[in-house]
Amino acid sequence: MITKQEFVKKEKYLKLNKLGDFIIDYDGDLNIIDFHTHMSNVLPLKVVDPRAKGNILKYKTLPNISNMDLSVPYWTKHTIDNKKKGLLSVLKFSSEGYTIFKDMTNGGTYENCFKSQEENKINRNIVLPISSKKYDRSLESLKIAKDYPDKFTAFCSVHPNDSEIKEKLVKYKTLGAKGYKLKITDLELKNNFTPLIEAFKICYEIGFPVLLHTGSLTHIDKKDTSKLMWKLLQSTRVEIFGELLNKLPKDFKFIFGHSGIGEYKLVAKYLKQYPATYTELSCQSTNSIQYLINEVGYERLLFGSDWPALPQSITLSRVLSATEDNQQAREYILMKNAEKLLNI
Ligand SMILES: [Zn+2]
Repeated sequence: MITKQEFVKKEKYLKLNKLGDFIIDYDGDLNIIDFHTHMSNVLPLKVVDPRAKGNILKYKTLPNISNMDLSVPYWTKHTIDNKKKGLLSVLKFSSEGYTIFKDMTNGGTYENCFKSQEENKINRNIVLPISSKKYDRSLESLKIAKDYPDKFTAFCSVHPNDSEIKEKLVKYKTLGAKGYKLKITDLELKNNFTPLIEAFKICYEIGFPVLLHTGSLTHIDKKDTSKLMWKLLQSTRVEIFGELLNKLPKDFKFIFGHSGIGEYKLVAKYLKQYPATYTELSCQSTNSIQYLINEVGYERLLFGSDWPALPQSITLSRVLSATEDNQQAREYILMKNAEKLLNI
């Protein structure tokens, strides 16, 4: 059984802080915008005041150290005993998701955020609210950016089935939102993508780039799952959203969140097809980031971490190793591309 200390010894750009959390190990100067972050009050659960003190973040999304493999996207070892069959596994999967959201809601405080920004040399977080049909978290996100304009930039999020979506998006733009974020599945949309396309068109009209959670997990095989579980795992696959792009203007600014996790090669294909699209790198590995740079160049790649679901350091350390011989690519991926895209 390997310890966390032994694990980071083998990782050039990672070390542990006093609490045993992963932080970057890098001495030079860096300028960084983290394009994919959340906070304690922007998720579709009961909100926690971000000013709360003493809340401990556990990073429940990270695999156990014995199951961690940073050379693959999502950093989880592929094991043949990873079977997810039967209804129980679906329930377990949903409850794991809930546990992760709970941890993010508890730990996504200013105190934890500023500590992480400092330890990882991060100048600014883009805050992505996740709204559901029931809860619109955009105003919470805007409040954070208003409280600390030097540290945060806000996106907004409105469910595509919200009857007031247009009025809301226009309003959020005047309040300072810089883009639109959504986490949605084909199951939730019941395979009717018209409302989503309409939402994208409104964003295009008012000049919002759109970031969606995209991608499927790769460490689970189809043969090891039930039909329902597989549907669930495939419900945010890259193809669903990539295919919608041909219904939108060529200069529609779409960002593939997580670079499609295990489906980053398909993301590269869409980036070639749609020159105004971008890809955000949270959960990717050194190799997959290098692959994306080779295939589409570095000017449409955006560093993101998915904090507080994941430590800011891990994807950051992957970007640093993927750009060891390319200082310019590093600067663009870590900050310049984001500045240009959001005009900040
Ligand atoms: Zn996220």
